[in-house]
Amino acid sequence: MPAWICATCGNHYPEADRPPGSCAICSDERQWVPASGQRWTTLTELSTVGHVSDVREVEPGLTGIGADPPVAIGQRALLVQTAEGNLLWDPSGFIDDGAIEAVRDLGGLHAISASHPHFYGAMTQWSLAFGAEILLPATDSHWLARSEAPVRTWSDALQVLPGVTLIQCGGHFPGSVVVHWAGGADGAGALFTGDTIFVTPGEDRLTFVWSAPNRIPLPEAAVRRIVDSVRSYDFDRIYGGWWQPILRSGARAALEASADRYVQFLRGEAKVD
Ligand SMILES: [Zn+2]
Ligand SMILES: [Zn+2]
Repeated sequence: MPAWICATCGNHYPEADRPPGSCAICSDERQWVPASGQRWTTLTELSTVGHVSDVREVEPGLTGIGADPPVAIGQRALLVQTAEGNLLWDPSGFIDDGAIEAVRDLGGLHAISASHPHFYGAMTQWSLAFGAEILLPATDSHWLARSEAPVRTWSDALQVLPGVTLIQCGGHFPGSVVVHWAGGADGAGALFTGDTIFVTPGEDRLTFVWSAPNRIPLPEAAVRRIVDSVRSYDFDRIYGGWWQPILRSGARAALEASADRYVQFLRGEAKVD
C-alpha cells in the first residue's frame, strides 16, 4: 500500500489502498484545490515520471535538498549541519535514496521541523529513515497526517542544537515558525522563514500573508508579533522556502522597514494614487 501524496501541496497521508477523499491542508482557505478536482500521487509515480533529488550546498554548513523538477509547492529543504548533529527543515514532498544517502554522508539527522503545515512534506519518511524526532509547535501538530514517527511538541521557542533555535512567530498559521541559525551568513546569523516571512523577488524586501495563493494579508497585530518574535536574535540574511530569492544581507533593517510599510497600507496611510 502506498503513502498517498497530495499533488498540490506535497503533504503525505497514511498508507492505504485508496487515497483520502480530500486533502485537509488544501481544503483550508490558506491553500487551494484544483478546479479539476483533488489529485493524488505516490513516491513511486513521482520517481517514474522523472523527479530526482536535488542536493546543493547553499553556504558552508547549510545544504539545500529539493526535487528536480520541483514537486507541488516546490520548497527545498534546508539541512543545518552542526558538530552536535543536523536539523532538517521544510522537507519537500519528494524523498529518494539519493537524498537519504546525501544526508547520511553529511552526518545524518538529529531532528526534523518545518515552518508550517504546507511544508510538512515527507517529514515522516525522513524521521523513519534516521530515527529522528519531529519537532512541531503544539498548536499546529494536528495537521501532520501520518502518525508513525515520534513527534515532540513545543511552544514559543526551542533550541534544537547549539546555535540553532526554532522560534514560533505565528501569522500564516498560529504555529508558523522560523529557524535562527547563529552561524549563518559567516557568523552574522541567518533566519529560515518558509512562508512565515516572504523574501520578495528583488531580494531587498520582505512580506507577510495569511494566504499566499489566495492573496489574503495579515492584520497589523500579527505582522508586529512576527517582527517582535525575532528582534532579539542577531541575523543579517533570510532564506525563504525556495532556492531563490534570498535576502543576502541587511535583513534586520529590511524586515523592520518592510513591516512598517505593510502596516501603512493596512491602515490606509500609504499614498496609492
Ligand atoms: Zn494538499
Ligand atoms: Zn504556506
